[in-house]
Amino acid sequence: MFWQEQYPQLIFPLRVTSNRQHPERAFQLTAWEREDDGSYVVQGPWRSKYLGPGSPPLLPASALGVNAPEHLLASDWVLAAAAFAVSAYWSSGARHPENQDVTDEALGALRLGILLLPLWEAVSVSPGPLAEFVRLRPVRETVQALKGEFGSNLPTESREIIEALRSTRPPAWTREHVVHLLVGQAVRIKQYVFETPRLPQIRGASILLERVVGAAAEELGATYSPECVLRKAGGSLLALLPTPDSGTARDWEARVTSIAYRLTGTARFAAASSAVPIAHLLPSAVDHEFHRHVGKAYDILERVREQADEPLWETLPFEARCDICGDRPAEFARILYSGEGSVSLCRVCAQRHEVGRRERQKLTKQAWEDFGLDPLDWIAPASDDDTQTVSVAASLVDLAPSDRRRRWLAMVYGDGNNFGAIVQRLKGPAEQLHWTRRLYWTVRGLTHVALVGATVHFAKANTSSDKPRAAEADERVAYSAVPFELLTIGGDDVAFFAWAPVGLKAVERLQAALEHEFSPLSAQSGNVTSDLPPVTFSFGIAAGDEHIPVRRLRDVAEDVLLKHVKGEAPLGAPRGRIAFFVANNASDMTPLRAKKAWRPEHQSKARRVVLSLQPLTSEQLAFLLHKAHDLRSEVGRLSRLATAFLKADPSVAALHYRYVRARAAARSEGQAGDTTDPFFTALERDTAGHSWTLFAPEGAAALPLLPSSATSDGSNGSRPIFRMPLLDLLQLVKAMQ
Ligand SMILES: [Zn+2]
Repeated sequence: MFWQEQYPQLIFPLRVTSNRQHPERAFQLTAWEREDDGSYVVQGPWRSKYLGPGSPPLLPASALGVNAPEHLLASDWVLAAAAFAVSAYWSSGARHPENQDVTDEALGALRLGILLLPLWEAVSVSPGPLAEFVRLRPVRETVQALKGEFGSNLPTESREIIEALRSTRPPAWTREHVVHLLVGQAVRIKQYVFETPRLPQIRGASILLERVVGAAAEELGATYSPECVLRKAGGSLLALLPTPDSGTARDWEARVTSIAYRLTGTARFAAASSAVPIAHLLPSAVDHEFHRHVGKAYDILERVREQADEPLWETLPFEARCDICGDRPAEFARILYSGEGSVSLCRVCAQRHEVGRRERQKLTKQAWEDFGLDPLDWIAPASDDDTQTVSVAASLVDLAPSDRRRRWLAMVYGDGNNFGAIVQRLKGPAEQLHWTRRLYWTVRGLTHVALVGATVHFAKANTSSDKPRAAEADERVAYSAVPFELLTIGGDDVAFFAWAPVGLKAVERLQAALEHEFSPLSAQSGNVTSDLPPVTFSFGIAAGDEHIPVRRLRDVAEDVLLKHVKGEAPLGAPRGRIAFFVANNASDMTPLRAKKAWRPEHQSKARRVVLSLQPLTSEQLAFLLHKAHDLRSEVGRLSRLATAFLKADPSVAALHYRYVRARAAARSEGQAGDTTDPFFTALERDTAGHSWTLFAPEGAAALPLLPSSATSDGSNGSRPIFRMPLLDLLQLVKAMQ
């Protein structure tokens, strides 16, 4: 379905573009450009790669002449209208029991007419197969009727439906008939996905969950029509069942869960359904009824989820168990990794591994395509005889370049802030579906661009014009495998693994791009205001070396860091923020330690110094990451400086700082005539276009730390509090090693 997938993929994100010709400028941000005819056109290779310069245009629904609200896209309107038409048609037997000649042909003509409406003129003159439809009389009559000219050959049902679509008030019959909403969702995803610590199986599991949703959507589309699938993202599905019969709806619930069982062997899906009057499906609806009914279905789903039970596996005492999960009976013997022996696998683990192995390369390639680069220019090809495919990491540790002394890995979780409150304010099904489509394709596109951009950023460090030291030229990162692995993109949420520097850099860029993409239009052009709260995102990043169990990284990144950042983002907060936690070893990477590292202000108050300022904005992270990269060989000196501030009164620590600095300067003066030490130069100078005042605009964060420059804290009388993210910087320096 072009309007459901290809079209949103082409137009979202709206304001960010990649650049194939100039990879160094690949992350440029573009604004909308308004054409003379009033349509918005997006410039840039992101789209021209597919459809030629400036294409495709954003077709506004208001140009369709069908009473659609100004801000809707034509694609939103036709998808909602087609879903309404299908629902209304299937209920027409109940509405007109005397008239049983409802035909598939009539419904087909109605759907085609609606779906072709935005492109009708263009299709009429095109040589493609779509032009055939234009010549079909029933389709032509549908289009004419949608534009207000009702012909005499139009079937009664079609006429009624088109009149309902064109009217501003729903006709009485649309309130009397109901169809059903179907929602489905994976249950206990974490247990299934993170059952094993191996990357191919983790990724395979998340791919399988998406495949369940895809298979259910396909079955539904084939039975009714594709536009009945309202949303499918990650492990969740929202669909319209154009039937008034609750028994049929329950059959579909069972079908979804059985598809899940068939494809994964174990993962549970919960499904639920709820009736909705056809009137609420009209694209002209401007109330909150559609959303309320979707909410009702999810409430039922929530109750079903709690009851969904895990399938029990019985392993007899003498049976061999699976080497991976250690739980289910082994059925296969496989060699999973070259150089390792054969292992015994259960059916569930074998399937996860197989799917992960086959699909990962394809999905990684998609990310590079979105960016407009050939991965083979940057990363070694796969080691087997097929040199045309890029190498994906065989295991988590292989995400980090093999020549690194320590191989730091990051697990990243991101999620939208207060999106429930935003969705509640959207009106009618077309707005709701516009929001979910825009969100999904934007987050997906920007995540791809950010990850590939961050990968290239470190790979081309030797050709960069920004060379703090001559030694930089030797710092080229030669990747033997793609240093990132996407786990899920579920709409507003995203999760991925990466080599820690790439993961941190990608989050910084993703956050900046999301802010740009979703900044209110008034900030861009100065003439439109929105009554919606700001659309912002939170990120949690847990980084450690390969000895830290992947479940531990997950727990810290999602359950501690992401949760805390989201908790500190009240509705209306203008900026999204980022938190990270870097731990040296498994005993430090625990939820408890991560919680303690969070905002240690309560302890610092007595000492009048705050050394961690998380959560950070994207500029703050960019500043610290840049510094961390420059200082990555100086963990020891930086750590001693931070210790001074941790242990002593800030005025004493500041004295210590100035003493160490002066001594270092004197030493380098004696040697080369240079009056500053490179360590302090790198630490103090402006970086990435900002100075340390980025963290305390009032000036308290200036280096060297002078007691007089501190601000006074309102609650603490005249005693000043220093704000200096030395501990944040120290963590990042470790991860950059
Ligand atoms: Zn197993």
